[in-house]
Amino acid sequence: MANQDPVNPAHTLFDLFVQAQRCVDVKQHFAELCRQLTLNPKDFRNFYSKLKERLNYWKAKSLWTKLDKRASHSEYQQRKACIKNKCLVLGAGPCGLRTAIELSFLGAQVVVVEKRESFSRNNVLHLWPFSISDLRGLGAKTFHGKFCTGSLDHISIRQLQLILLKVALLLGVEVHTGVEFLGLNEPSGENGWMAKLKPETHPAATFQFDVLVSAGGGRFVPDGFKHKELRGKLAIGITANFINRKTAAEAQVPEISGVARIYNQKFFQQLLSETGIDLENIVYYKDDTHYFVMTAKKKSLLEKGVIKEDHSDAEQLLAPSNVDYKALHLYAHDAAQFSTGGNLPHLQFAQNHLGQPDVAMFDFTCMYRAENASLIRERRGKKLLTALVGDCLVEPFWPLGTGIARGFLASFDTAWMVRSWGLGVPHLKVLAERESVYQILSQTTPENTSKNYGSYTINPRTRYVTVNLSSIHTNQVRTLYLCNTDS
Ligand code: FAD
Repeated sequence: MANQDPVNPAHTLFDLFVQAQRCVDVKQHFAELCRQLTLNPKDFRNFYSKLKERLNYWKAKSLWTKLDKRASHSEYQQRKACIKNKCLVLGAGPCGLRTAIELSFLGAQVVVVEKRESFSRNNVLHLWPFSISDLRGLGAKTFHGKFCTGSLDHISIRQLQLILLKVALLLGVEVHTGVEFLGLNEPSGENGWMAKLKPETHPAATFQFDVLVSAGGGRFVPDGFKHKELRGKLAIGITANFINRKTAAEAQVPEISGVARIYNQKFFQQLLSETGIDLENIVYYKDDTHYFVMTAKKKSLLEKGVIKEDHSDAEQLLAPSNVDYKALHLYAHDAAQFSTGGNLPHLQFAQNHLGQPDVAMFDFTCMYRAENASLIRERRGKKLLTALVGDCLVEPFWPLGTGIARGFLASFDTAWMVRSWGLGVPHLKVLAERESVYQILSQTTPENTSKNYGSYTINPRTRYVTVNLSSIHTNQVRTLYLCNTDS
C-alpha cells in the first residue's frame, strides 16, 4: 500500500495563501497560517526566518531560495541597513507594494495603508524585460503560474498587486486595507510623526514613523510637493475588459501589442468606414480578461453618441452626465470585435468592482510630474523623510507602457535613499542624491538602461548606464528641508 503522509495543516494553509485570488483571501489565509505556526506577523524582524524554519515545506523551498538570493544583496547589509527606521507606505498599488518590499529587505519596519478593500483592476500592463526579471526574482511564478509565459510580457494590475502583497506579507510587512491616509499628525510631546487615518481609531494611526512613502497614484499630491502639468493635445482613452473563457478559439486570436495609426493607415480607415469608429491606436492583450485599450477621436465619439455634447474643456466633455454609457459599451465592443477580425466568440464584458461592465473612458491630455521626488520635514526635533513613487511621482503616458517600469525604478531609487537615511548620511546629501537620480527617470527606456537585469539592485549605478549621483548639489535642495524648530 502506498505510504500516505498525513496532511500538514500548515502546508494546506500555505497552498491556499499562494493560490488566493482575492486580497481578502490572501489576508485570511495568511492570518490562519500565522496562527497555525504560532507566528506573530508583527515580529517583522524575525518573521520571515521563523516562517521558513517552522513551515518546512518542500513546495516553499524554491520561493525561499529566490527571496534569500534577493535578500543577500550587499546593499541591504543582511537586512540591517535600516533596522532603526519605521516606514509608512501610502497606497498598495504596484509601486507602493514594490517599495514596501525593498524597505523590508533593508530591515525597516514597514506599514502599508490602502484605502480600497479589494484589488479589482482588470486592466493589463505591458512590462519591460527588467520588470519581468525582477518579478520572477520575487517568485512571481509561484503565485501566478502563467506569469509572463512564452512571449507574454504583460499582467493585470490586480494580479500584480496580489503577487506583491503575498511577497510583502511573507517578509513581515503589515498591510492594512480599507484604511485611508488623510494627512500627517505632527509630533507632540513624546510622540513622533503619525498619520491621520480613516477610520480614525485604526491601530495604524498610532504607528510612529520617520519615513513616509507616498504611492497614492496619479492625482495624489501630498502636502509640500508641487506638480508640473504636461499638456498635450486632447487625448481620450478607452479601456474595455471582456471575459476570457480560455477556450481554444480564444487562445488562437493574436494579441495586438500596439497598432498606431501612422503604422497601419489601412486598418484604421477600414475600421472607420465599416463601423464609424475613429481611433489613433489600439492594444489588445489576452490575460485574465481580453483587455483592449485605445485612443479615440472626439469627433467619432460625438457622432456615435458616446459623448452627448461637445465642450472645449476635457473635464466637462467627459463628465459622467455627458457620456451615454450604452453607446460607449457598443463603441468599445465594436472596436474590439473589428480589431480581432470577429474571431473572439461571445465578447461579453467582464465586471468591474461595482458589478458593472468593465469599460472606462478617461482623459490623458494632461499628465502630471512632481517637481521633486523627496523632502524632509523637521518638527520638535523629529525628522520625517518623505518620498513619492509610482504615478504619484510621474504619471505615465499609457501608450508608452512606462508606468510599472519607471514606477519600479523609482521604488528602487527611493529604497536607496532610505538606506542612506538609515545609515546616517547627512540629510541634504540624501536629498541631493535622490533628486540627482530623479533627473534621469523620465528619459529611461529599455534601450538606455542596463541589460544586465540579474545584477540590478537598489543601487542606481547597477541599473542606469550613466548616472551622476551628485549632479544636484546640496545647496540646491535646501528648500526641500522644511525645518520648524520652535513649534
Ligand atoms: P496606483 O496603481 O494608482 O495605486 C495607488 C493606490 O493608492 C491605489 O490602490 C489607491 O486606492 C491607493 N490610495 C490612493 N489614495 C490613498 C489614500 N489617501 N489612502 C490610502 N490609499 C490610497 N503601465 C505600464 O507599465 N504598462 C502599461 O501597459 C500601462 N497601460 C496603462 C493603460 C492605461 C489606460 C492607464 C490609465 C495606465 C496604464 N499604465 C501602464 C500605468 C499603470 O497603470 C500605473 O503606472 C500603475 O498602476 C501605477 O501604480 P501606482 O502604485 O503608482 O499607483
